[in-house]
Amino acid sequence: MATIMNAAVCYGFKKPLVIDRILIDEPRAHEVEVKMTACAICHSDILYMDGAWGGRLPTVYGHEAAGIVVSCGSNVTHVQQGDSVIISLLRSCGICFFCNRGLSNLCEYHFPTDQPRRLQGLNGIDIHRGLGTGCFAEFAVVHQSQVVKVPTDMKPSTASLLACGVITGYGSVVHTASVSPGDHVVVIGVGGVGINCIQAAAYCSAATVTAIDINEDRLNSAKRFGATHAVNSQQDDPVDLILSLTDNRGADFVFVATGNPHASNRVFLMLRRGGKLILVGMPPVGADFKFEAVNFIDANQSILGCKMGACNLQSDIPELLNLYARGEFEIDELVSTEFSFENINDALDATRNGVGLRNVVVFWFQHPTVRIELVEWKCNRLFYFWNTRMTQTNINRILSMEDRLKTSKSTEINILQIRKPASWLPLKSSLRFGFTCDRKSNKTSQKFSVSVLWITLRWYWHCFCRW
Ligand SMILES: [Zn+2]
Ligand SMILES: [Zn+2]
Repeated sequence: MATIMNAAVCYGFKKPLVIDRILIDEPRAHEVEVKMTACAICHSDILYMDGAWGGRLPTVYGHEAAGIVVSCGSNVTHVQQGDSVIISLLRSCGICFFCNRGLSNLCEYHFPTDQPRRLQGLNGIDIHRGLGTGCFAEFAVVHQSQVVKVPTDMKPSTASLLACGVITGYGSVVHTASVSPGDHVVVIGVGGVGINCIQAAAYCSAATVTAIDINEDRLNSAKRFGATHAVNSQQDDPVDLILSLTDNRGADFVFVATGNPHASNRVFLMLRRGGKLILVGMPPVGADFKFEAVNFIDANQSILGCKMGACNLQSDIPELLNLYARGEFEIDELVSTEFSFENINDALDATRNGVGLRNVVVFWFQHPTVRIELVEWKCNRLFYFWNTRMTQTNINRILSMEDRLKTSKSTEINILQIRKPASWLPLKSSLRFGFTCDRKSNKTSQKFSVSVLWITLRWYWHCFCRW
């Protein structure tokens, strides 16, 4: 049974997203439904939204997310209702040609979540899911291989970054390049992926890690995350520096973590004989990359493409969580700004303009200041659930209500950000609502009063006019 949710829908390339009420299908076999808590803005979303990669519209993008599992289809084995998870675009069937060869990031299976009608407008129009995820929405239904459990006390915006930017940068260094202690590493482009190439190279004890960018703020961030040298390529020539650091041989590895193909033009001048060039950042369709073949062959160099860090989600995310817990891999500091879901277009513009390392959209029920999570109408009494954080205890309390509500004479009311999760509660068996408030504003209490008044009015309307 499809249910209603709010989603930021792309109806036209290069146009702002529209927050719309749309329908999402329930999870089928091997699928899970996740209630979103945070979704980071990745440059791949921007490229899709700007039409650089084509694709069909309307579409819900967003693929670097964190949330809470609210329901599971049959045969879901490694997560259950109430688990905190990250959601990635990486998905694997476990049985295809590539999965059988340990290349799960290249899985070729056609997943049922890509079939028509899994998302649709209230007018019946089919809505697509960008990169097989569709996380710029309150809920997403994905294949179980796309989610990995994370600690419940992990901040959602931090957790979300694990799903794309962190694993891509980390995996390109650890899996694709296999950087060893003493290697000389160059990273071109210090964005959400490049910064993780830098800290992974530092973690691998590279002798030097040189960051190249044209943004001073990002170069300063690079130094905080382990870069030994930082070069603004608009002011200085990085080739001279890298040759001086390497006895004129060049770096062992050069990572191109930007989607700008022009950034790759001079890379071979920085790369030593036998060195490896790793292309990590995704350029637009049609962007080409030219190099002098004879020199390349004579120098025995290599060019490697790297999709999502060549990571295996189910083994690499736990490994990164261990490094994070031990303080050996920094993720909290990668989050530049949190935007509310309503302001998603501001978050997209900030990313487009190169502001911050990673901008993250957080969802209303995770707003830390004031929140009514759920109200239950039962036996003429109202139970309020006030939270300052979505803790595991509160999640369990909400989930445990299902059975109790089935036997009560309750009625559902739709107010603001409400959804009727059929998987949780039968229609007309619950009363639930929520609202947002601006944590930065001093007018929190005023907004709160207005919201409560409005909710009360709506409630009376239901009591006396509709029932
Ligand atoms: Zn991404
Ligand atoms: Zn597969």
